[in-house]
Amino acid sequence: MKCICVGRNYAAHAAELNNALPTEPVIFIKPSTAVLPPGAAFRLPEFSRDMHYEGELIFRIGRLAKDVSEAHARSVIDGVGVGIDWTARDLQNELKSKGLPWERSKAFDGSAVLSAFEPIDAFADLGDIHFTLSLNGELRQQGHSADMLYPVARVIAFVSRYFTLEPGDVLFTGTPVGVGAVKAGDRLEMSLEGRPMLSVTVQ
Ligand code: ZN
Repeated sequence: MKCICVGRNYAAHAAELNNALPTEPVIFIKPSTAVLPPGAAFRLPEFSRDMHYEGELIFRIGRLAKDVSEAHARSVIDGVGVGIDWTARDLQNELKSKGLPWERSKAFDGSAVLSAFEPIDAFADLGDIHFTLSLNGELRQQGHSADMLYPVARVIAFVSRYFTLEPGDVLFTGTPVGVGAVKAGDRLEMSLEGRPMLSVTVQ
C-alpha cells in the first residue's frame, strides 16, 4: 500500500507556512514503510530538530482504480479516518529551498499515523466532516472538509490520472491551520465528528 498525500489544501495553513496557494493539487507519496504500526509510539528521528504534527482527514481506497471521474470518486473509497502526516519541518525547508523533493522530510519510517477507519456509508456528505487534533489535551487543530481547496473527489480524480489506486491505499487530504512542533513525552489525540479516533505518544 501507499499513502497519497495532498499539501497546502487549506488556505489558512498555506498562509501560516508562507506558501502561495497552489494552482493544482500538491501531491507527494509515503511508502508502506512510513506507516507507524497501530498503537506504537512515535519516535523522534535523529535527523530533525523541528518535528511537526499535521492532523489530517484520511480516506481508505476500497478497490483498484485508475482515471476515476469526480462523479465516481466516492465509489472507490471504503473508509474514513484521521491521521498524522509527520513532517521534519527543518529538513523540509532545507529541501524546499533547494527545489528538491520532500520525501526525506515526510516519507521516513513512522511518518504516517493512521486511525481505524469508519465505513464510508456513515458519511452522507464528504464535504461536511469535522476533525480535531489536540496536543497534551489542548486543542490545536480544527478541520472541516468544506474548507479544503481541493475536495476529496477532485483529489481522487487528479491523482488517479498519474497513480493507480489499490485497495488499502490511504489518501491524506492536507492539514488545516495550527501545525506545530513536538517534544518527547507529548501526547496527541485526534477526533472525527467528535469521536476519539487516535492517540499517539511521542518518544
Ligand atoms: Zn500534510
